[in-house]
Amino acid sequence: GWLDGDVALVTGGGSGIGRAVALRYVAEGARVAILGRSVAQLQEVVDAAGDLGDRVLPLTGDVRSPEDLHRAVDITVERFGKLDVLVPNAGIWDYHRSVTRLSGKELAEAFDELFAVNVKGYLLAVEAAWRELVATRGSVVMTLSNASFHTDGGGSLYTASKHACLGLLRQLAFELAPKVRVNGVAVGGMRTQLRGPASLGLENRTLAASFARNEAAEAASGEKAPPLIPLYDSSVEPEDFTGPYVLLASRTDSATITGAVIPADGGIAVRGFRSPAGGSGL
Ligand code: NAD
Repeated sequence: GWLDGDVALVTGGGSGIGRAVALRYVAEGARVAILGRSVAQLQEVVDAAGDLGDRVLPLTGDVRSPEDLHRAVDITVERFGKLDVLVPNAGIWDYHRSVTRLSGKELAEAFDELFAVNVKGYLLAVEAAWRELVATRGSVVMTLSNASFHTDGGGSLYTASKHACLGLLRQLAFELAPKVRVNGVAVGGMRTQLRGPASLGLENRTLAASFARNEAAEAASGEKAPPLIPLYDSSVEPEDFTGPYVLLASRTDSATITGAVIPADGGIAVRGFRSPAGGSGL
């Protein structure tokens, strides 16, 4: 495999793209620690790895806690001997809440909660891991988003948080060079369990449920509205977004890449004005 002998730590590895990346890394020969909040969810990933389940190490913790992250790194190194790749990934969404729909108090509370997970959680993960990554000349592969570059992938809170992660990526790539590479994958819409802030009462809502609702509405009306992206018929399953995470983690294939982001968002940056895709009739 591409990652034979490597050791990775994925935050938010119990579901969604984090789970898919963890299982893909294992399939590529790595051993992977997954940090998350739900024991049952983490155990499900171990089970999903089948015969390779002993290569998946489930760890509970909260990415807002420096202690939890340091403990996760320590246990990973204790169990697997080193750390080659950190994937800061745990995040929450704001369900497109516009500034015009929220009170100042709601915005203040949701800002603190969402930035604590999405931005502080990434920075603290790197703080906990950099010493081990220097030791192995390893790398960081962050989950970024279409919302790291473009509007309307969420509301202002989420968009600002994902832009902030791009700033972290660039600054950390500078601070950790030449020993540690720092890159990211800007994923687009995927069918995952992505949740919202508890402070807005959105902690149990999932993006997967929103996908299901849209699909049911399309089935009922008989009209399928393609999303406004060029690869509109591409997959929304997290498994299909994992390739760039493997490439960027690979020392041999990405040795000269740092501070870079691979957009895996269906080509949002090249959509047109008259139609999303110029070749729809091909
Ligand atoms: P998900 O909810 O399936 O996965 C996120 C994981 O992070 C969950 O397992 C959750 O329990 C965990 N988590 C959340 N808060 C945590 C905390 N405080 N401490 C520890 N773990 C925590 O959703 P996902 O879509 O796979 O999200 C992963 C990343 O992908 C996020 O950063 C998200 O912003 C990004 N993303 C998702 C989409 C999409 O359409 N789903 C699009 C672009 C970017």
